[in-house]
Amino acid sequence: MLPPRFELHRPSTIEGALELMARFGDDATFYAGGTELLVAMKARVLRYAHLIDLKKIGSLAEIHLNGSGGILIGALSTHHQISCNPYVITHFPGYAALSENVANIRVRIAGTLGGNLCFAEPHADPATLLCALNARAHLVSLKGRRIINISDFILGEFSTAREDGEILTHIELPPLPHGARAVYRSFGQQERPTAGVAVVRTPHATGPEWKIWAGAVSSRPLELSLVTEAVKGVADTHVIDQIRVQSEVHAETLEIHDDAHGGADYKRHLISVLARRAAEDCLS
Ligand SMILES: Cc1cc2nc3c(=O)[nH]c(=O)nc-3n(C[C@H](O)[C@H](O)[C@H](O)COP(=O)(O)OP(=O)(O)OC[C@H]3O[C@@H](n4cnc5c(N)ncnc54)[C@H](O)[C@@H]3O)c2cc1C
Repeated sequence: MLPPRFELHRPSTIEGALELMARFGDDATFYAGGTELLVAMKARVLRYAHLIDLKKIGSLAEIHLNGSGGILIGALSTHHQISCNPYVITHFPGYAALSENVANIRVRIAGTLGGNLCFAEPHADPATLLCALNARAHLVSLKGRRIINISDFILGEFSTAREDGEILTHIELPPLPHGARAVYRSFGQQERPTAGVAVVRTPHATGPEWKIWAGAVSSRPLELSLVTEAVKGVADTHVIDQIRVQSEVHAETLEIHDDAHGGADYKRHLISVLARRAAEDCLS
């Protein structure tokens, strides 16, 4: 089925895109790769008379190192571009690997990181690891610029902290502390993940710190902070078993729903299995 008729606007600057959005208001939306938007428009779930294509704004697709050793990923970068980017591969190999496994090659070539985060479909991969990495979203509107944590950006199912008329310009990954490792593991029988777990291990003088986030199992990524507390100071030789057991215990307390991807108990089980595997990868 074709989407309802719309007019396509292709501004070459952020200011131009913001002005178009101010002019058309609720009749318009931003358009990146279209892999979510056009499907929703064809299904008549969303309807817009004007689409403001952001792809001509070159700066939005750039990936570069920032002064502090972190990385700024333009929101219009596709999953494929991120997976091949030398900075991402060198500084955040776990995130490059995640990007290489999103969906299928057709979606990875067209679909952008910004579109993935702004659509906030819960069965998605990037937000979980980005939360564990303390990543931040850079937003701009006619009112000005603001930066918020990705963990505060995703509010729930198809809901974000992005205000009408705001463009997500960049995702900032702060530098990982020396010796830290970040790994993401997911499992799904359909195209999108049933569950995904991100684990970050950071060495400290007092013993390593573990951070664990679970995604796709709920309306937004959830931190397993009780596991972090429980494994504080536990030696690497014993920590894997502890992470598996504690993830199982913590998962019991999480609000997880049955859906087309599986029952809540199944997803709870997946969390502990994936947490163990990702923790093992951190140590390998
Ligand atoms: C078959 C299939 C399988 C998939 N499997 C997976 C998977 O395994 N894992 C996974 O994580 N994801 C998966 N996805 C989701 C995929 O990652 C997203 O569809 C894609 O990243 C969305 O990006 P886009 O550029 O196409 O967004 P669009 O469809 O262009 O836009 C999506 C929404 O975001 C808004 N938007 C886009 N960019 C911006 C911006 N910069 N600022 C403000 N608003 C913006 C648009 O207005 C729209 O509302 C799958 C999708 C499909 C179709």
